[in-house]
Order: sequence, then structure tokens, then C-alpha cells
Amino acid sequence: MLGWLLLILSILQCESFIPAPRFADHFSKSTSIYSTKTLVSEKLSIQILMSDTGGGHRASANALRDAWETLYPDQIEVDIVDIFTDFGPFWPYNDYVEIYKIMAKYTFLWDAFYTFGATPFGMAVNEFLMELFCFDSFQTCLERSGSSGRRADMVVSVHPLCQDLPLKILASLDTNGRTRDLNARTTPFITVVTDLAGAHPTWFYPGVDKCFVPTDVLYQIAVNRSLKPHQLIQYGLPIRKGFWSGKATGSKSLLREKLDIDPDLPTVVIVGGGDGFGRIVDITSCLVDKLTTSSPSAENQIIVVCGKNQRAKEQLEKKSFPGSVNVFVKGFVYNMEEWMRASDILITKAGPGTIAEACICGLPSMLSSFLPGQEEGNVAFVIDSGFGDYSSNPNIISSKVSNWLADKDKLKQMKKSALETARPSATLDIAKDIAQVLFLSKKSDASSSSSQNLATS
Ligand code: UDP
Repeated sequence: MLGWLLLILSILQCESFIPAPRFADHFSKSTSIYSTKTLVSEKLSIQILMSDTGGGHRASANALRDAWETLYPDQIEVDIVDIFTDFGPFWPYNDYVEIYKIMAKYTFLWDAFYTFGATPFGMAVNEFLMELFCFDSFQTCLERSGSSGRRADMVVSVHPLCQDLPLKILASLDTNGRTRDLNARTTPFITVVTDLAGAHPTWFYPGVDKCFVPTDVLYQIAVNRSLKPHQLIQYGLPIRKGFWSGKATGSKSLLREKLDIDPDLPTVVIVGGGDGFGRIVDITSCLVDKLTTSSPSAENQIIVVCGKNQRAKEQLEKKSFPGSVNVFVKGFVYNMEEWMRASDILITKAGPGTIAEACICGLPSMLSSFLPGQEEGNVAFVIDSGFGDYSSNPNIISSKVSNWLADKDKLKQMKKSALETARPSATLDIAKDIAQVLFLSKKSDASSSSSQNLATS
């Protein structure tokens, strides 16, 4: 019984002191509250809690780290931890990454556990077992962060399962173990939601200082979970540095040349998230067939980004495709912004990070699959925003994409809609706001310790 509970649980989860920001104009209002006299040479630290369930959480964590480094160079040390893999006490807690991959493949399982985990009973079971089994090991993680080996000055969560227990642990650490009452916590804690238009309730705990949400839909879910407007901030998803500038530098043709693909051919990029999900092999084969039969004389090119899906990569590399369609097979790429900007259409599973990135690149998007519950809302988001469509059938996907390629006006309209939906400045805005909370909390620490010193002298 306990084993089953654990399995269920595992699946449910599935002025130096105030540094001057580099982008002074943009941030001048909020930085003016700081005095340049409060100089402290010590580097501040932020611990980001996440797990590599999919590629999006780490991508967002890295994006925030890069944003702080850009805004406040050498001022903030960032420690990104996969708390489940590195500090989970035993299976299933330390194996969420693999369990997630199985669930993402067999989506009916994901659906059942996601839905159960969103019920009050499912959440209570999850919280109870996590506190029972993971409190001590997770506390070890929160006690020692980064190179300093001491506690971080602030904790940020970019994962749906890193709210409840870390908040209790911080309350306990802040009171030397006297209580786990969330109201007793003094270390700043912030949630940055990395889902887009659907999110599990475990993301939202009223005990946080701030919660960043990317869309109206998630704002409303947060309010329904009793978060107050003063806790909620809405900018967009944190996206890696290559996407911060809304505009591409240089022409598409030049970029294609740099990437060693044809500069002039219509180009489709197929992505399946960090793990290469979403039947990318079937879709590639089907699209090649469709493009070859619908316009035999036309040449096209397809880039397939397999991410960590080594099997799909090997399968595709073994296939031979007709000469009129060039297929380029890639593993995990670190320059997604270039592949997206070099393409005319994206085919992807409904991953939040990939969709937000596609918006910034003005890339019409054909969605091929979604995780029930978590990514379902992303499908409506893309369709309602007017920059894409959805089908799980490779034949329908191929027909639609082939029609889009032949219809320049349609592509232009979808591109415009994608760009209107894009939030390229979200990462820097989120990073700046979080840094302000951090600096304010250190400033109030400094003033309370100096008043204590005065009182004792
Ligand atoms: N990604 C990447 N290289 C790859 C495949 C994916 O950098 O080869 C990135 C992609 O750009 C996005 C993230 O991985 O930022 C995937 O996040 P998403 O939320 O779309 O899906 P997830 O993998 O989390 O389910």
C-alpha cells in the first residue's frame, strides 16, 4: 500500500549592497529607493529549486541566472538545484525525472495521477508524505547553498513541487527548529511559474512572498488558490537569453547559412521539448511524404530537434528521405533561438517554454501533443492567439503545415499574431523584481542588526 502511495505521489508531481542595474533607465524608479551609502561587499545568494522533469524548468532557472548576471554583474551568486534527484531520500523521490518520462509517454497515466494530485485529498496525501520522508534531506539542501556552504539569502522555486515543503523547512530553519508554521518564515521565498496556460494547484501557496505568473489564466488560478493581488505579478515566462531581444539580428538567409542549411528553402523545425516527445519520428516521415507528393517539384527543408531522445535521433538518421526534402537531424541543441529564427513553421508538443520562445520568434506553430491537465490550456492559448493549430494525427499535421507553406498571407498573419503574444522582456522584468525583494530584505536585515548594535552599545 505504501509503495502504491509512493508511486502515486511520485507521479502527481510529477549600491554594491544594492547594485546599480545595468539597464538604469528601465529600472530607475524601483532602484531609487536605495541609498548608495549602504555598501556591503558580500555577494548575495539565491537558491533556485527545480527538477529536470522536462527541459523547461532548468531552461527558466538558467534564464533567471543569466538575467541577474546581466543586470547586476558579479553581485548575485545563483545555485540551481534539482532537489528531487540530488536530495530525494529514496525511490520514487530521487527518480522523478525518469518517472516523468514514462508518464509523459503514457499520457493516460499522467492524466490519472495529475487529476488525482489536484484534488484536495491528493494534495494532502502528497504534502503529508513529502513532509514525512523528505523533510530532513531537503533541509540539508536548503541549509547549504552554492560555494559559500551557508544558507542562501533567498529561495526561488521554478517547479510545482517545490512550494509546500521548502516553505515549511525555511520556517523551521528561520526559527531554529521551533516551528514549521509558514508565518514564521523570514527568508524570502518566491515562486516563478513556468507553465503557460494551465498549471497544477501545487504551484500556488499563499505562504509565498511573490508569485510570478505568465498569463491571465494562471493569474486567475492563483487567485482561486487564495493568493492575493499584492503577491501576484504577471510578465510572461522566463526565457533564455538568446530570446530576450524581440528582434533577430541579421537576415534569415544569413542565419541559415551560419547553421549550414539552405538559405532560401521553406523551412520547418520539429521539436519535442527537452526530452524529444510528441512522435517526432512519425511526424517527420509523414511531412516528408506530404511535401513530396503535394508539390513534387518544390524543395523544402526540415530540421528535427530530438533533444535528449537519442532513440528518435538514431531512427531518423537511419532513414533515407527523397532529394526534394532535406532533413537535418539534431540532438539536444543549445541555440534553439537560432533554429527557430531560421525557420518558417514550428511543429512541437505543447511545451510552455517552446511556445513562448516561438512567439518571440514570430513562428507559426502546429501543436502535435500535450500533457493532459498541464499543457492542455497551451493548445487553446496558441489557437486563440491566432498563431497556430493542433492535431495529434501526423497526416493532418502534415497537410496543415504543407498548406501553410503554400499560403504566404496566412503565414504572415500567424507571424504577426505570434509576435503580438510574445513577452520578450519578461525574464529581465522578473529578475529585476526578484532582485528588489532580495535587496530590500538584506537592507532591512542590515538596519535591524545595526539598531541592535546601537541598543547594546
Ligand atoms: N530545448 C533546448 N534544446 C533542445 C530541445 C529543447 O534548448 O534540443 C529547450 C526548449 O528551447 C525549451 C525547453 O527545452 O526552452 C523545453 O521546454 P518546454 O516547456 O517547451 O517543454 P518541456 O521539455 O519542459 O516539457
